[in-house]
Amino acid sequence: MSALLKPLLDAPPPDSHWAASAIAGPETGPLDGSVRVDVAVVGAGVTGLSTAIHLAEQGVRVTVLEAREPGFGGSGRNNGQIIPTLSRLDPANLTAAYGEAKGSALARMVGGSAALVFDLIERYQMRCDGVQKGWIQPAHRPGRMKAAEQRVAQWQALGAEVALLDAAQTERALGTRFWHGAMVAPTGGHVNPLSLAREMARAALGLGVAIHGDTPVVSIGRAGSGWTLTTPRGGVTADRVVLATNAYTDDLWPGLRRSVVPVLNFQMVTEPLPAALRASVLPSDMACSDTRGDLHFFRWTADNRLVSGCTLVRSADAERRARERTRERIRRVFPQIGNPAIARSWSGHLAMTADFRPHFHELAPGVTGAVGYNGRGMALGTAVGRELARHATGTAAPELALPFTPVKPLPFHDLVTRFSRLYMLHLRRLDRTD
Ligand SMILES: Cc1cc2nc3c(=O)[nH]c(=O)nc-3n(C[C@H](O)[C@H](O)[C@H](O)COP(=O)(O)OP(=O)(O)OC[C@H]3O[C@@H](n4cnc5c(N)ncnc54)[C@H](O)[C@@H]3O)c2cc1C
Repeated sequence: MSALLKPLLDAPPPDSHWAASAIAGPETGPLDGSVRVDVAVVGAGVTGLSTAIHLAEQGVRVTVLEAREPGFGGSGRNNGQIIPTLSRLDPANLTAAYGEAKGSALARMVGGSAALVFDLIERYQMRCDGVQKGWIQPAHRPGRMKAAEQRVAQWQALGAEVALLDAAQTERALGTRFWHGAMVAPTGGHVNPLSLAREMARAALGLGVAIHGDTPVVSIGRAGSGWTLTTPRGGVTADRVVLATNAYTDDLWPGLRRSVVPVLNFQMVTEPLPAALRASVLPSDMACSDTRGDLHFFRWTADNRLVSGCTLVRSADAERRARERTRERIRRVFPQIGNPAIARSWSGHLAMTADFRPHFHELAPGVTGAVGYNGRGMALGTAVGRELARHATGTAAPELALPFTPVKPLPFHDLVTRFSRLYMLHLRRLDRTD
């Protein structure tokens, strides 16, 4: 494995606000010995756990193998925004890429993904501080309102419940004049993401799924018409395998790790803010991420803290600079807060793709995988998991919402990874244009 990436699975779990405030995780001891199941899932983030839940609901025998613990990857350390859109692409981009039928099916799946998350939360009574008051994408330049109008029209044409807000409505929703209007998706919202991952694990266990933490899959090989996954102290033989490892993908499947670029993103949480500020900052309690490439994003926690963050270009002294940058950003967007005290900061990796599309693969007969959520995988990954479960129970690929494509490792991947942060300079330049 590349020295650049080795630490992703080896590093300790982040000292995040979510780790400090989440419900305890269920018991998921390591696999000891050999088992045979219908489907083996690699990775216990939202994608793998959603796959497991949707399979087990149909009586399929599933084992989830997780290198560390449920929610160790992006799913337990993100901003917790439940967003029913892709990060960079609109429905028209998807139909252009995959054709009218497949592109629309994928867009519909994305458009319904936030509702799916909150349905699961409701169905399994998940204790994850779920707040479904909407997701808002404010426009950072007046000229970006035209794109917002088109985006809203495209989603509405697919039947998605989205709306356009003018500048005054946006100011009322967000408590600031920083933006110029917005798109709103009422099905979106926010959660404590680590609690969500742990509750998804609990729900899966309740349905009879076996989940083994501290169980990295070290190799996959054919076994008759199925597959054997080897782990340090045992193995799983399964008819079907789902790889759900996103940014934390290692070299388990040839080329998969090198098909995405892991990009470090910092998260910060403030000390609890006074109730009066909670009433004036993001008074709608929506999850908010704006139209910038250098994304400005904010959300409240259950205990009156604001969670935000940033991506940096330079890595030197990163933690301190990320804190300073985020504090300055909060001051600029919500001047009523003044100079916020940051209580905690942590980081995680996003899986970026060169075409900004999430990538879905049928890697071999009976083996599927999904990677490359481009920083927006909480709702998307949950919906993808449901589709991968459908595929594992016999739904043919053409009937899925997922377009399967071949794995394309990026040339000079280590170099691209090393310098990927420079891309942020390009995004910041684009942010200054309409
Ligand atoms: C800082 C940050 C902020 C973000 N904010 C948001 C947000 O607000 N909203 C949003 O929608 N998205 C957000 N994202 C993206 C989102 O977190 C991810 O897209 C999503 O969690 C991906 O889920 P997943 O289940 O596919 O992968 P992950 O949650 O990353 O899980 C993959 C799992 O696979 C395991 N694994 C890897 N290799 C192996 C192996 N060989 N054997 C066994 N296990 C293995 C890992 O340990 C890991 O637990 C953010 C991401 C980050 C890092």
